[in-house]
Amino acid sequence: MFKSVLIANRGEIACRIMRTAKRMGMRTIAVYSQADANALHVKLADEAHLIGPAPAAQSYLVIDKIITAAKASKAECIHPGYGFLSENTTFAKACADNGIVFVGPPPSAIEAMGLKDRAKALMEKAGVPVVPGYHGDKQDAAFLKRKAYEIGYPVLIKAVAGGGGKGMRRVDKHADFDDALEGAMREAQNSFGDARVLIEKYVTAPRHIEMQVFADSHGNAIHLNERDCSLQRRHQKVIEEAPAPGMSAALRAEMGAAAVAAAKAAGYVGAGTIEFIADGAGGLKSGGFWFMEMNTRLQVEHPVTEAITGLDLVEWQFRIADGEKLPLAQAEVPLDGHAVEARLYAEDPERSFLPSTGKLIALEFPRGEGLRVDTGVEAGDEVTPFYDPMIAKLIAHASSREAALDRLADALEATTVIGPRSNAGFLSRLCRAPDFRAGAFDTGFIDAHLADLGAGPQPLDHEAIAFGAQALIERERELLSERTASYDSPWDADDGFQLSGTRRLIVPIVAEGHKLNAEVVYEAGEAKVSVEGAAPAADATAIATDDAVFVLRHGRQTRLAARDLSLSEDSEASGGGLIRAPMHGKVLALLVEQGASVARGQRLAIIEAMKMEHTLTASIDGTVAEIAASVGAQIAEGAKVMVITGSANGGE
Ligand code: ADP
Repeated sequence: MFKSVLIANRGEIACRIMRTAKRMGMRTIAVYSQADANALHVKLADEAHLIGPAPAAQSYLVIDKIITAAKASKAECIHPGYGFLSENTTFAKACADNGIVFVGPPPSAIEAMGLKDRAKALMEKAGVPVVPGYHGDKQDAAFLKRKAYEIGYPVLIKAVAGGGGKGMRRVDKHADFDDALEGAMREAQNSFGDARVLIEKYVTAPRHIEMQVFADSHGNAIHLNERDCSLQRRHQKVIEEAPAPGMSAALRAEMGAAAVAAAKAAGYVGAGTIEFIADGAGGLKSGGFWFMEMNTRLQVEHPVTEAITGLDLVEWQFRIADGEKLPLAQAEVPLDGHAVEARLYAEDPERSFLPSTGKLIALEFPRGEGLRVDTGVEAGDEVTPFYDPMIAKLIAHASSREAALDRLADALEATTVIGPRSNAGFLSRLCRAPDFRAGAFDTGFIDAHLADLGAGPQPLDHEAIAFGAQALIERERELLSERTASYDSPWDADDGFQLSGTRRLIVPIVAEGHKLNAEVVYEAGEAKVSVEGAAPAADATAIATDDAVFVLRHGRQTRLAARDLSLSEDSEASGGGLIRAPMHGKVLALLVEQGASVARGQRLAIIEAMKMEHTLTASIDGTVAEIAASVGAQIAEGAKVMVITGSANGGE
């Protein structure tokens, strides 16, 4: 077995790989960017090498720097994790050229499966069912539009080089095709440097069911059961489980055989995943599934397979990379109970799931039987805009699906994330959603239930705010007395705290950007706080920092602070027409010119952040009075993009 491994990755997956490598007696070598100097994966490793500045393109994606670190540290093998260089043939070849074992498939297999169009052609030849559609070379818009018409709507446009749901657009009507194609190609070009697309029939009531496969270098291949990853948002997995609800042993064998055939056709070695789209209408059925793509690496959701099989997939990867045979035959692969994984993200379900960066002021996970938490961050760490904002994966295993979902929901509710916003509350509501629990779901489930799941704008939680105001008053007395000296403050030293009788005070606060007043009633030496008539919540937690109080209630974070009355508020002066960047990103396009008249809801600009495009729209009818950003420029969260003056008052 290898004596050392360099992990060419960061975050939770780097930590998870190290855990197994250490158990197997390997010396673990981390690489890190400047932004990750204090990261958990660096602390866990036996040694660590700086490979450049924060942007991945200058650090985690630079093959030469990683090979240099591997040689300097005399690493015998490199585990790429997922993402970054894990499916990069040039990297796999560079490892081999330098006498370092790449823990993954041979470059030829990565190449065979790397582009969706070629992979589909190869699968057709191997007799694996593929989704009907066009995956040829011709890319002119009129031709693709004709193909879409022939395939029949709805269709799905996919980037040939795609991954992570990027460059993908569903089109329902012929009239929408051109816009969708343009958007898909632009996103594909930006994300992958390759604008080519393919067109597929959109499977209605689709379930995403994937088979975990393993092949060794002796010609053996098996599958380790399926995972159901149908709960998705924007084609990205949110909750994954194993086994798939409604899966029969016979259908598992049929899909498993197709998956093994796919792996063999690609000359595969190591851990891989064959993703199928299944037609879930009327339940899973024989013949009702088609190959979508193969991921030639370990998956984010591999822990659910580990839970139901009791196997360590990373250990298998090392053993196979070292030339060993598969440890089990197909018939010996266990399937015990049910496992569900939730991806906990620093994102805001109330603001279209925008990534939410910043310092993790508090981060705590529950512990317990049948519960696994894989994370790469700890309290005090920063969620930066440079990398995927996943905080952790929570995995629950139990004897039944119901019990596993309960366990996961409970764990999510007992998780504390303060600072960045998280999707914990959203995930726990998903785990408890009746139709999902009943097995009545497909990949459209989340979009169809956003409101019930608490996604989208929610009313302020006044009880949480009152709880926070109380904490603010109790814990921030001194700080506040400095800031609010200009008005009658309840915590000025000489305000007659001890006076008998009832005294009412109004404390101006700002909660989630809303100006409110907390009312404090002093009676018999006791202060009772309320906000808009609501008393402090009994089931909330609050954490105070220097300038704010964060309240966590039912997985939802409410941030509040004392309000400084002397500050002028620009949003009021601009009459709601101030268009700000919702997050740190790059201005991709400005869709209007100065002086143009715009209608409420009209698209104004496109900002790209975390490889996703965000469209800014006009909040009022009016005229573009000012454009403060330029195409191609980086823009900070909250920065002014443009100003629209309302048509009613005819400008300034
Ligand atoms: P990516 O590589 O970008 O993740 P995939 O090809 O794996 O893209 O597809 C991502 C998701 O999109 C799938 O899990 C599924 O939910 C949906 N999807 C893909 N192809 C189809 C299809 N033909 N019909 C319906 N949904 C699809």
